[in-house]
Amino acid sequence: MERLRTVLDPEIGRSIVDLNMVRDIVVDNGNVTVKIALTVAHCPLAKTLQTDVENAVRKPGDVKSVRVDTTTMTRKELEELRARLQASASRSSPPKGGPMVGPGIERLGRRGIRSIIAIISGKGGVGKSFVTSILASELKRHGYEVGVLDADLTGPSIAKVLGVSGKPYKGPNGGIVPLRTESGIKVMSINLVLDDPSMPVIWRGPIVNSVIRQLYWDVDWGELHYLLVDLPPGTSDAPLTVFQSLPLDGVIVVSSPQDLASMIVSKAVNMAKKMNAPVLGLIENMSYLKCPECGETMNIFGEPKGQKLASSLELPFLGAIPLDPAIAKLSDEGRIEEYSNPIIVGIVDELRTRAVKQAEQLTQALPIAVVHRARTIDALLLSHVGVIPSHESFNAGPTAIQVS
Ligand code: ADP
Repeated sequence: MERLRTVLDPEIGRSIVDLNMVRDIVVDNGNVTVKIALTVAHCPLAKTLQTDVENAVRKPGDVKSVRVDTTTMTRKELEELRARLQASASRSSPPKGGPMVGPGIERLGRRGIRSIIAIISGKGGVGKSFVTSILASELKRHGYEVGVLDADLTGPSIAKVLGVSGKPYKGPNGGIVPLRTESGIKVMSINLVLDDPSMPVIWRGPIVNSVIRQLYWDVDWGELHYLLVDLPPGTSDAPLTVFQSLPLDGVIVVSSPQDLASMIVSKAVNMAKKMNAPVLGLIENMSYLKCPECGETMNIFGEPKGQKLASSLELPFLGAIPLDPAIAKLSDEGRIEEYSNPIIVGIVDELRTRAVKQAEQLTQALPIAVVHRARTIDALLLSHVGVIPSHESFNAGPTAIQVS
């Protein structure tokens, strides 16, 4: 039971022992069977939880095998849990330590963030940051609370394209207050913290890991419907840290027709799959050029390859975005929020459908009275069992981001 205490529910961010989710532990000659009660039937994060439980219980020497069975909480149990979480929501307590998902790395909780989505690419320059920014802008236009975490430490461009400058500061509860764009998107990027943003970040792996974790955990994101994480390209230490540390709900892959070999994209996608992060689909950026004069489509990089690449990777193809001089101009001017594109509108609709499905699954298990209170879709999303705890501090290790 003590080992299970370190496992956090990926949705609620609290220990599964404290949440009364552990139903049964049977130890038979070194073979351990643990039964966990999920808050939602077919919980999309059940796999993450099962892996975390396995990792926490498994110890070489005394445990030969671990089996994790799941069941679903009854309505009565859910009600009790909800009441307990509400009672403790105002109290702030530091995390007791999450499940170890790698040497020295724990998965952090999600606090008040409903959905965390990472944007990845095989290599740099394909427009990953641009896609992250317009995705955030489109979600914001739909009325969602959105945050963008720029985890691309070596090429941080999010703050610039979203027109954010200035220094983040420490709020009254000790968390770093992210800056806001014109439309209200919360942004956190290493460039906002560096004294000289033009200086390159030359840090070794452990420090990069620590900084990325701080950009997530030490920041007071508040309640968000979506946190989009702009990952560094490729499969280095930094994206690995994000996959291991953050409770990701999904990954969107960005490619461009210039990607010399689909193998580069495959590596990034396979990394996400290996880390059990659901890949939502692939977007091809800079796919073609639409002549501003005659409207004719020109395939300047040859035939668009996105659709084929997506099917070879067994991913949904989310759409192709053209090369558009307006994008470069608006990015340079920090006004990318003004850009809209039907492909992104479609992707946002897809994300919303998924979120509503999750909320519906949950409310099916909740008492009718609770469902009635949550009338609109947004209220439904926010009425999720995970009551938002107030800001908790996190001691992140070797390098501390300094803000006053
Ligand atoms: P990455 O994050 O993959 O390194 P960026 O998003 O920073 O790439 O994009 C690289 C450059 O390409 C930026 O200057 C950006 O404004 C420009 N860009 C991205 N997508 C497009 C597009 N579809 N049309 C025109 N310029 C684009």
